[in-house]
Amino acid sequence: MPLLPVAQALARILDGVKPTATQMVPLAQAQGRILAKPVLAKRDQPPFESSAMDGYAVRAGDGPVLKVTATSQAGARYKGTLKPGTAIRIFTGAPVPKGADAVLIQENTRREGDIITVLEPVAPKQNIRRQGLDFAKGDVLLEAGTKLGPRHLMLAAAANCAELAVRSRPRVGLLSTGDELVAPGEKPGPDQIVSSNSTGLAALIRHCGGEAVELGIVPDNLTKIRRAIRKAADCDVLLTTGGASVGEHDLVQSALDAEGIQLSFWKIAMRPGKPLMFARQARQRILGLPGNPVSAFVCARLFLKPLLDSLLGLNPAETPSKARLTAALKTNGDRQDYIRARLTRAADGGLTAEPFSTQDSSMQHLLAQANGLIIRPPFTPASAAGATVDVLELDP
Ligand code: AMP
Ligand code: MG
Repeated sequence: MPLLPVAQALARILDGVKPTATQMVPLAQAQGRILAKPVLAKRDQPPFESSAMDGYAVRAGDGPVLKVTATSQAGARYKGTLKPGTAIRIFTGAPVPKGADAVLIQENTRREGDIITVLEPVAPKQNIRRQGLDFAKGDVLLEAGTKLGPRHLMLAAAANCAELAVRSRPRVGLLSTGDELVAPGEKPGPDQIVSSNSTGLAALIRHCGGEAVELGIVPDNLTKIRRAIRKAADCDVLLTTGGASVGEHDLVQSALDAEGIQLSFWKIAMRPGKPLMFARQARQRILGLPGNPVSAFVCARLFLKPLLDSLLGLNPAETPSKARLTAALKTNGDRQDYIRARLTRAADGGLTAEPFSTQDSSMQHLLAQANGLIIRPPFTPASAAGATVDVLELDP
């Protein structure tokens, strides 16, 4: 089987993906979620002409001496009408009374008893926020596809949109396979290692807006792997790690096959990353990642992240950034290399990329020190230090 280019593998994974269902969530649970529908203001803000200052509601040009006859507070307006020669004491956020067309700020007056003297005249409309200045009822405040952050939630609250329509979090079943694996915190036997893939991948899934559904560590046993695959039936995505090669103990492929799941098994022209399994079962998409932690993580970053974006109704296409190499790179072979690197913002604002000299795909310590990947398409000629390269952030 010829090696499949990365872009083609990704296109096949994303082909026909439909966004997850819409769900209503209260504001307190909406942080980080993706809006499924635009948010429309349910009211005007401010809902009335309101004072921008503490001072006196007046008719512009009236004075210089005015009698203070009443008060308008935030939350309790003065219901009467301002008469010539008078002023209404007013506070920030209070409704401007009928008859008034400006607010004289307190500092520009002198007060003796009920009498104020205007020290600096105001122009009409000054220090008044018109009704709907911030937003008007029916305005589109937030577009579908917005990732809800603190300021978006603040705005939705102001518009009295207490519940928002968001995309359901794509559910990703996480299955680690391997006789050699124990969970973090357990005591490994002499031939065992601690499973790290599911910890890192679960965090990546959550970071990308998904929900990680832990299916646990399953030994290299066909029956047990099949049972775990069935347990994930209601997940949007099933993500397995390990057992993806062709050794006698690499049983994920056989287990999927035995479950009647139609399987595409690719050798992708990339490094790191050995064969990748891909399958579809009804709505579910299944990604079988290599067991090697660095390969598993990089493959998840490159294939699972866009899949989650699509499931969230977002555009999965990602434009790499440009960075300047701090060290030379050799000619590339027939695979697309993803070189672990340290990306740094230089003083001139541009990015620099320091490629790590060791690119062993078992080395998780180096992956943790990296924050980016340099993309080297197949057969890229050697690049000198200072050359511009395409890079992706590891934590999108
Ligand atoms: P495999 O794909 O099963 O051949 O595994 C390839 C390498 O990745 C082996 O060295 C495994 O021990 C290692 N490996 C597999 N699964 C995990 C895991 N969950 N956490 C850490 N290392 C793993
Ligand atoms: Mg294995």
